[in-house]
This record gives sequence, structure tokens and C-alpha cells, in this order.
Amino acid sequence: MAATVLVVEDERKLRDFIRSYLERAGFTVLSTGSGAEAITMAGEASPDLVVLDLGLPDVPGETVARELRAEVPTPILMLTAKTSEEDRIRGLELGADDYVTKPFSPRELVLRVQAILRRGAPAADQGIASYGGGELLIDEPRRTVTVRDGQAELTPTEWGVLVALATVPGRVYSRFELINRVRGYEFEGYERTVDSHVKNLRRKIEEDPGNPRIIQTVLGGGYRLGLARDD
Ligand code: CA
Repeated sequence: MAATVLVVEDERKLRDFIRSYLERAGFTVLSTGSGAEAITMAGEASPDLVVLDLGLPDVPGETVARELRAEVPTPILMLTAKTSEEDRIRGLELGADDYVTKPFSPRELVLRVQAILRRGAPAADQGIASYGGGELLIDEPRRTVTVRDGQAELTPTEWGVLVALATVPGRVYSRFELINRVRGYEFEGYERTVDSHVKNLRRKIEEDPGNPRIIQTVLGGGYRLGLARDD
């Protein structure tokens, strides 16, 4: 059955553009340019995902996100014109599952939507997510990581970093973003702390920690998971 996506974007041309791309990808699309209407529509239609522009004229996107979150855990993909990292992080903290910064490629938007929906789907294998043809298995309910058939013993922070990177394989996460995504741990406020956790993590999960394949460094960017998720 086709998943329903609610697109909330006040720029008419952009809204229609997003709609046509999502429809071509097989989604049922509802759309509106009003934040207030979006909240009503979400309540009535229970969409599977909401694409939400942060800059809306009537109700700010942040407020819409908060209202949607208060109702049901509908995944949110934020559209943001804001380029500062802090604004984007704030979007994620408001409960957005991912974001794209304008201008974006519609193809990338569709891929992000598909990735979020896949993530939210009940895993076929009792919550175990598999990457790289089974090389890496992440079992969130049991908080265990299996690499090449052996269990890796990770600290809570290493676990948090790995799970954050695995959210969207291939996507680059900055150190700042990783810090903010890892919960249950007090960072000392210095982004470079992440580097030492990644170093330890690599020692535990990489075949050759000096030449890492699973957690890749992106110069000037951050880190990304180098394995694709198995479907
Ligand atoms: Ca706007």
C-alpha cells in the first residue's frame, strides 16, 4: 500500500515540485501551505511522514513540529533555508528525523523520505538492522552489535555514535551533530571528543582500524557509515 506523505510548504512552485516527485516515486501526497492546516490535516489523515518547511507564514515550522510530535510519532523531514549548523541541530532536537537544506535536489529528498520510512518500518528480523551484506548487525532492543559474526562490546557513547551514523548510511554527520545525537552521556563540550570515541569504536569493529571501511572520515565534514543497509 502506498505510504501517504503530507507536504507543508508555502512556496507554491516548490510544493508542487515536491509533490510531483513524490507521486512519481509512488507516494500518495497531501499538501498545504499553511502550518495551521497542516496540524488539522495530520490529525485527520494520519500521514506516514510529514515534509515540513521551517519557514511558514502563519505558524512557524518549529511549532508545527512540536504539535505533530505531541500527537503521534509521525516522522518529520524538515526543509530548511537556515544554513547555520545550530539551526539544523535545533530542527533535529524538535523531533525532526532528518532535514534537507534548500536548495536541494528532489531526488535526494525522495531518497531521504524512503530512508526514513524504511527506518520506521518494523524490522523483518525482530529489530535487527543489517548493513554491508550482514557484516554489521545492530540490535537496538538488545543493544548489541555484531561484526563479522563476533559481538563487539561498546561503551554507551560508542553505541550512540554508531547508531547515529547508521540512521542514514552514507550521510555525513558532523562531530557537533553526533554529539547532539548521542544521548545519555555528558560530553565535555569539545567536538574533538568524538574523534577519540570513533578511534576506540574502530578498534572494536574495523578489520583494519588504520584503514577503516565501516566508519569513514569525511575531511572537513565529519563521519559516515560506509556500509549500505540491507533490505
Ligand atoms: Ca517557506
